[in-house]
Amino acid sequence: MSHDFELLVIGAGSGGVRASRMAAAKGVKVAVVENRYLGGTCVNVGCVPKKLFVYASEYSEKVEEAKGFGVETEFKSFDWPTLRDNKSNEISRLNGIYNNLLENSGVTLINGTASLKDANTVVVDGKEYTSDKILIATGGWPFKPDVPGAEHAITSNEAFFLEEFPKRVIVVGGGYIAVEFAGIFNGLGAETTLMYRGEQVLRGFDEGIRNFAAEQIAAKGINILTQTDIERIDKQDNGELTVQLKSGDTLTTDAVMYATGRRPMTDGLNLEQVGVKTRNNGTIIADDFFQTSVPSIYALGDVIGTPALTPVALAQGMKLVANFYAGDTTPMDYNNIATAVFCQPNIATVGLTEEEAAKEHGEDITIFESSFRPMKHTVSGLPERSMMKLIVQTSTDKVIGAHMVVPDAGEIVQGLAIAIKAGATKAIFDSTIGIHPTAAEEFVTMRSPRG
Ligand SMILES: Cc1cc2nc3c(=O)[nH]c(=O)nc-3n(C[C@H](O)[C@H](O)[C@H](O)COP(=O)(O)OP(=O)(O)OC[C@H]3O[C@@H](n4cnc5c(N)ncnc54)[C@H](O)[C@@H]3O)c2cc1C
Repeated sequence: MSHDFELLVIGAGSGGVRASRMAAAKGVKVAVVENRYLGGTCVNVGCVPKKLFVYASEYSEKVEEAKGFGVETEFKSFDWPTLRDNKSNEISRLNGIYNNLLENSGVTLINGTASLKDANTVVVDGKEYTSDKILIATGGWPFKPDVPGAEHAITSNEAFFLEEFPKRVIVVGGGYIAVEFAGIFNGLGAETTLMYRGEQVLRGFDEGIRNFAAEQIAAKGINILTQTDIERIDKQDNGELTVQLKSGDTLTTDAVMYATGRRPMTDGLNLEQVGVKTRNNGTIIADDFFQTSVPSIYALGDVIGTPALTPVALAQGMKLVANFYAGDTTPMDYNNIATAVFCQPNIATVGLTEEEAAKEHGEDITIFESSFRPMKHTVSGLPERSMMKLIVQTSTDKVIGAHMVVPDAGEIVQGLAIAIKAGATKAIFDSTIGIHPTAAEEFVTMRSPRG
């Protein structure tokens, strides 16, 4: 039986766009359905606008730094509408680029909301399309806990489009999005509280790195409240929010932003009726080759619960196309995925944390660690410090983890990720000549294991 398409992708986000473009380049008849914005979360309400806001948030501190170097300048004011609108203009430009990329590669773009009718049929706003294979790449959506008054709180989705910049803000959550937004609000001048119900922010990151980063974040003026949770939020007539904590304390603020996690976006897809199985948390169950419980339906990206990162969704899209149309029979490799947190200073990490390494290798690990005042701040006078950590499997001498808290850490760790993926040993790190004077050279000069 012949279908309208060979591959029909639901969701033109990171994974969906990459899969459809790559498949079309192989001569496959492809369509992609999108109901909101081309480029998905990353381009519209994720990585890209966030990084632009991070850049904006760092100027106030740069002005402070400059003083120690004899540059006489002052930070006068910050105009939120300028930043918000310039960001939105840039995103519109990127949306246009995505549109052209899809058109030029021969992908049929269908605007509208898709739902599954059966194993080979998708309905978009009442119109049916059939396809040999269907790929669900619908991503995720921010999740707000069921707290009275939660409707007065925003999520990252709204934070990008605020009418007014808040004077005071409470960011709730301990993950990287919460930590990054706390840095953004703080750097742009809001009195910022980062509130987390656990013991320490950035769960899942190396313990030493988490603790060190939390100290640095607090030193920037962010009020970190751990083991704290919101009982209810009330909006006052003057627009202020009264936040009642479970401890009984009350805080007053102008905005509460929940960054308490994301759920898979499967609303209206009709998964159950078609037989696509999901986990308790709603993520779609897909095997190592992205196949769901319905053989002609595949899924990838945030909606399947793999690490929620754009490069992961992109790599999955390329892998799926290689598996389908280029004879690749290998599964996706999720080892050593490097990642960064764009707080101040940045955190970047690849490989195992010390805790994971100890669990996997027991006593067979050696830790190299260094914390120091960056050269710039010896003159700027700012109290910011940096930290770097290497984890080595003692018996093989292989570097199995690298972590750093340093400005632009992501730019450095991306290179280290290649070395670690290639299986570099500590001896190779040690025989590498450093670039002086940099923070990164510390990675090739750490000689003495931590005591
Ligand atoms: C605030 C924030 C910051 C982030 N920062 C980073 C970062 O710095 N680095 C990083 O690597 N990752 C970051 N991420 C994560 C990254 O954005 C996601 O991992 C990535 O976008 C996932 O891609 P995806 O293809 O799975 O889904 P998405 O990019 O979310 O795309 C899904 C698309 O499907 C569409 N869709 C959904 N349902 C339907 C339907 N029924 N019909 C039609 N279309 C539909 C949606 O509108 C969307 O366009 C961030 C995320 C957030 C929220």
